[in-house]
Amino acid sequence: MADVSGKRAVGPAIGVDVGGTRIKAGRVDETGRVEARSVIEVGDARTEEDIVARIAAVVGNLDAGGALPIGLAAAGVIDPIAGCVLESPNFPSWGHFALADRVGAATGRPVSLENDANAVVFGEAIAGAGRGAANVLGYTLGTGVGGGLVLGGHIWRGERGMAGELGHVTVEPDGRTCGCGNRGCLEQYAGQVGIRRTMRERGGAMATLAEHASAPARLAELARGGDADAQAIFQSVGGYLGMAVAALIHTLDVTTILLCGGIAAAAPLFVPAMEAELRARTFRSMSAGVQILVGTLGADAGIVGAAAIASGANG
Ligand SMILES: [Zn+2]
Repeated sequence: MADVSGKRAVGPAIGVDVGGTRIKAGRVDETGRVEARSVIEVGDARTEEDIVARIAAVVGNLDAGGALPIGLAAAGVIDPIAGCVLESPNFPSWGHFALADRVGAATGRPVSLENDANAVVFGEAIAGAGRGAANVLGYTLGTGVGGGLVLGGHIWRGERGMAGELGHVTVEPDGRTCGCGNRGCLEQYAGQVGIRRTMRERGGAMATLAEHASAPARLAELARGGDADAQAIFQSVGGYLGMAVAALIHTLDVTTILLCGGIAAAAPLFVPAMEAELRARTFRSMSAGVQILVGTLGADAGIVGAAAIASGANG
């Protein structure tokens, strides 16, 4: 494996994760360590001006009077070359918002912008679980399922900056409807929303538990305690992930698979089924050597990845 991380500094830079409920920022050093953090709640003030002002505030908290570059990570359809948010699920009123330029004007610093899942996977690839791997196929298993591809040490953005929508790969031809317009997307089975849908379909106590605020974590507790229904649900999560990964291994011949996000905390409950499924669906010589890793940066991954991009680590 070509070593990527050893050649490129991750910082110093400010990484900012622009979420729908809070803006989380960190000052990241050259090794990828988060030296200091600042968090601001978004609250009800959600216009473009409001968010630019909040980002400027967290940057000021971390690097007052300094000139560190800023890396932003945000959900939605992003044009990373232009630094624009084209569509945002968290801020539906935004339209073609030149977020990077606006933050640059407000702070006087160079600013980059990246899709949040790409930033998470890049952070883990350069400074976390995937450190040292030139090629990483990463899934963010949160409310939904996102993903990112690092190929040859760089984020693969596709022709129009939209690549890495790994949660919308079909795993059930006539399956559950998805917000993207497709049916049977991986996201509808392997993210929090998908797991809740599976629990509701099972009925009884599972359907009741599905409405609990932390249903996936409760389900994981049940599975660890030996509950066969809960274990079967996690096995189905693994099966669908394995099916999706098998297609990508055949396509890309990548051997480092990375799992990030809240659901990844339950990896021991579903990775064995995932491995079995991907082995069953791939040439033996292609599944040989494939490793499934769990992210080590946790909630910092997006901040670290965004800072690394701001530092030029993505080229
Ligand atoms: Zn979809």
